[in-house]
Amino acid sequence: MIGTVFNLQRFSTADGPGVRTTVFMKGCSNQCAWCHNPESIRREAEIRFYPDRCIGCGRCLQVCPVGAHVSGAEAHNLDRATCTACGLCASECFAGAVEAAGTSMSVEDVLREIVKDAPYYRHSGGGVTISGGEPVLQAEFVGELLRACQYHGLHTALDTAGHYAWSLLDGLLDVVDLVLYDVKALDPDTHLRYVGNDGRLIRENLHRLGGSGHPFAVRTPVIAGVNDTEAEIGGIARIIGQYSSLTYYELLPYHALGNAKLQSLGRHAAERFAAPERHHLENLAATAESFVPDLRYSSSLARQT
Ligand code: SF4
Ligand code: SF4
Repeated sequence: MIGTVFNLQRFSTADGPGVRTTVFMKGCSNQCAWCHNPESIRREAEIRFYPDRCIGCGRCLQVCPVGAHVSGAEAHNLDRATCTACGLCASECFAGAVEAAGTSMSVEDVLREIVKDAPYYRHSGGGVTISGGEPVLQAEFVGELLRACQYHGLHTALDTAGHYAWSLLDGLLDVVDLVLYDVKALDPDTHLRYVGNDGRLIRENLHRLGGSGHPFAVRTPVIAGVNDTEAEIGGIARIIGQYSSLTYYELLPYHALGNAKLQSLGRHAAERFAAPERHHLENLAATAESFVPDLRYSSSLARQT
C-alpha cells in the first residue's frame, strides 16, 4: 500500500498525548486561508524553492531533465510551468534551497521510521499521530498504517478536519485510539469565506463522532477577526461539551509560519491574519472552559490546520 506523505515529524508534542511521531499526509478537502502547512493542500508532489539559500553550485541545473532551473548573473529562478516535480534536484541540493513536498511511501517505509522512537512513546505515554492535509482522504493507507502501529503496541491518534463522507472516518475508528477533530467555525458564511465550504458536513460528522462514544478531542485555530468571538468559541465548546467521550478542547492561536512556505511553493497569501490579543484569548478560554472537561491553550503557539 502506497501513500503520499509530505513530512514525518519525530518528537512532536503538539499532536496528542506524550512524545509522538506525526505523519503528515498530502491532500486536503478544506482550503483554510491561514493554512500553516500549504504544501499539504494539493495531493500531487510539489517543489519548494528558497532562492536565498542557494549557494550557486549548479547541481540542480545539471540534473534537471527539463531545464526548469534558470540561473542568470543576478537570480536563480525555478520555472514552475516546466517543472514536473520529479524531485531530482531536491535530492541533489545540499544547501536546502530545493525541497520535495510530497513523497510516495509504503506502509512499511513509514512504520520503519515510526518504531525507531518506540521507547520514547512508552516513557511519555505518546505514540503516533496521522495528520495532514486531510489523512482520511487516504483512508486505505492510513487504516493499514494504524493497524500496523497498534500491532506494535503503539497509541494511535488521527488528526482530521471532518469534510468527507462519514463512512470514511467510521471505517477507521477501530484502529484509532484518539480522534483529534478540527472545528474552525460554526457560522456557515465565515466557514465558506475562510475554509472554502460552509462546514455543514464537518458539523454533521462532529455530531456523529460525538454520538459514537469514541474518545475524541477538538481543536480550533483562533484567528483575530475570523472566529475569535464568544459566539464561535463558546458555541463550539457548548456543542462538544455535551459528549461524554470528549477528552479535551484545545485552542490554537494563529501563527504566521505558513506564509514563508507558501512563497516557497510559488504561491502568495491572499490575506494576512493575526492571533488574538492575549487577554482576549484568555477571556475566550474562560468561556469555553465552563462547557468542557479539559480546556487547553497556549499564548505562544503550536500549529493549526
Ligand atoms: S543545487 Fe541548490 S544550491 Fe545548488 S544551484 Fe541548485 S538550488 Fe542552488
Ligand atoms: S523537480 Fe525535477 S523537473 Fe522540477 S526542477 Fe527539479 S529536477 Fe527539474
